Amino acid sequence: MLKKNSNKNKSRRNRKLKQEKMLMDFEEDSSSSGSELTPTRKPSSQHNQQNTTILSSLRSLLLVISSALICFAAARNTITWHCQRFWGASGDFWQAQWDRFLDTVGEDPFNLCVYGTSILTFCVYWLFGGIYTILDITNKPAALRRYKIQPGTNEPVDTKRLLKVIWCVIFNQTVVAIPLAIMFYYAMKYRGLTNVRELPTFHWVLLELAINILLEEIGFYYSHRFLHSKYLYKYIHKQHHEWTAPIAVTAIYCHPLEHIFSNLVPPFLGIFVMGSHVATSWLWFSLAILSTLNAHSGYHLPFFPSPEAHDFHHLKFNQCFGVLGLLDRIHGTDTNFRSTRAYARHIMMLSFIPPREAFPDANSCKHKLGKQ
Ligand SMILES: [Zn+2]
Ligand SMILES: [Zn+2]
Repeated sequence: MLKKNSNKNKSRRNRKLKQEKMLMDFEEDSSSSGSELTPTRKPSSQHNQQNTTILSSLRSLLLVISSALICFAAARNTITWHCQRFWGASGDFWQAQWDRFLDTVGEDPFNLCVYGTSILTFCVYWLFGGIYTILDITNKPAALRRYKIQPGTNEPVDTKRLLKVIWCVIFNQTVVAIPLAIMFYYAMKYRGLTNVRELPTFHWVLLELAINILLEEIGFYYSHRFLHSKYLYKYIHKQHHEWTAPIAVTAIYCHPLEHIFSNLVPPFLGIFVMGSHVATSWLWFSLAILSTLNAHSGYHLPFFPSPEAHDFHHLKFNQCFGVLGLLDRIHGTDTNFRSTRAYARHIMMLSFIPPREAFPDANSCKHKLGKQ
């Protein structure tokens, strides 16, 4: 009997010990998962999230680049060669015009690069900027008001503010830009000037334009982001941001240092790298001016590239620093923009329906639904 009892006690003790051990194991597990793993899990999930957003951005970037390459490869054999044939046929015509132009103004590279470029860019800026300004001053035609990105702003524009912009822009185009054009000329001379008489081929111009666009995006994005650092913003870039709803001619309304490093150097990068012909540089500078006038115009017109991103930059300050939006996507500086209705409108409109009517604000949507 005694033996039986002692056996029973032993087995009970063993069971107890086993239970205690299991409890301890469980506590160890739960403590390690509860107190140690939880805090480390959170950042790792955040990290994973960041990684996935960067990956998705890179994936979409790769998609854009690869589709562009495929389109280019496909078009290379059809459209561009067709254009080249057209260019070739009309090439003599353009060459003859160029020769006649050089016969009239002379072919001194210094005069063409410095005075030619300065006069041309001044004329392009004020011819097209002037048209936008007339719309802003007269507040006519009424039909164009429907294309305003920020309705109710600059309708009409304040004359005092406008005059301040005009004086600043003319100062930047002459006192600042002409000495820089002289420096650019000597940089090109050091690099090796091309034969001024001979115009480049159509394909070469296309290639140079593509490189100019990419290098300008890099130069403008980083210089612009740098201008948004605390001190540079306060002493330099703030002037350009006086206009939260910009108009076309405010495109180069800025501090002289900003004009040099953010507006003049980035478009020159491709010209310098490729050692471009002066005629190609004139074509490129004209396109860059038209692009920045459109980006600041405050109008999202049909069949024009969308100015929504840069307009949004003027409205919110810390979003959309680039021209193309490629680097904003990579660096995630367009995340807020992409969650707005402005992003839905950020496309080239291929109809005459105003973007604000095609993609109304969420509030006005609800308002309309409530009315119905
Ligand atoms: Zn701007
Ligand atoms: Zn800015």
